[in-house]
Order: sequence, then C-alpha cells, then structure tokens
Amino acid sequence: MPEAVIMAGKRGGTLARRPHCANPECKRQFLRPVGSARKYCFTCRPPVDRKSDPVPSEGEDAAPEPGKIEAESIRELAMAGRLESLEAEVVLRLARAMDSPATSGSQLASLAPKLLEARRVALAGFRPDSDRLDELEARRRAKIGGGA
Ligand SMILES: [Zn+2]
Repeated sequence: MPEAVIMAGKRGGTLARRPHCANPECKRQFLRPVGSARKYCFTCRPPVDRKSDPVPSEGEDAAPEPGKIEAESIRELAMAGRLESLEAEVVLRLARAMDSPATSGSQLASLAPKLLEARRVALAGFRPDSDRLDELEARRRAKIGGGA
C-alpha cells in the first residue's frame, strides 16, 4: 500500500482529499492540504499563511489591483498630497486588510475605526474642497445679510 494512502487513513480519514468548494457559486474541486479542514477552494479563500505559499516574494506583485477602500484612500491621500507619508502607508495597509476577502466581519469591525483614525491623522490640516466651502460660507453670509 502506498505511504500516502496510509497517511490519509491515519490523519483526517473523514476528510476527502479532493473536496468541492463550499461556495455554491464556485463548487470547484480543489486539492486539500493534509491536516487542513479547508472547505473553500484557494480562489475563494486565498491562504492566509504566506510561509506555505510557493510564491517567493510578497510585495507590490502580490496585490495587482487595489480594492475599493484602498483605491478610495489612495485617491484621497493623493489629492491631499499626502500619499508619500508614513501616515498614508498606515492608512493603505489598513485599507488593504479591509479589502481582503480573507478578513472576517469581526476583523472588519475592529479595523474600521483604526482606518478612520489613521485617515484623519494622515489628512490632518488638509481641507478637501476649500473653494467650495468658502463659497458656501459666502452664500450663508449673504443670506443672513439679505434676510435681515
Ligand atoms: Zn471556490
């Protein structure tokens, strides 16, 4: 008997080695790692543990396209001219974590206030649309003046 079969019998005997993804919209068959209780394929739930990932380097290539929150954060920070700051990096790291499909609901709940605080610090002193605010203020004054 091949060794792999013996191993499979000893360790999770109840777990199929090639299960179908638990995502009803996917149902793709995938190879489950030995000792893992993974229910979803690697496309639906990318591995969190980067050490077991065969990809040699993690970096810019790991996230080819920014998610919704990260993209919006980049836009805001760039507009404020703060994209190169350390504070901006913190915002983007948090945004990336929030965009990740691997992030759970409770993790999101704890990340959200941190992101908003980091964003506040990163954008501190910057008024996003000062011309428009000045215009509103001028109109408000004109209205008060005209009504009296
Ligand atoms: Zn899947």
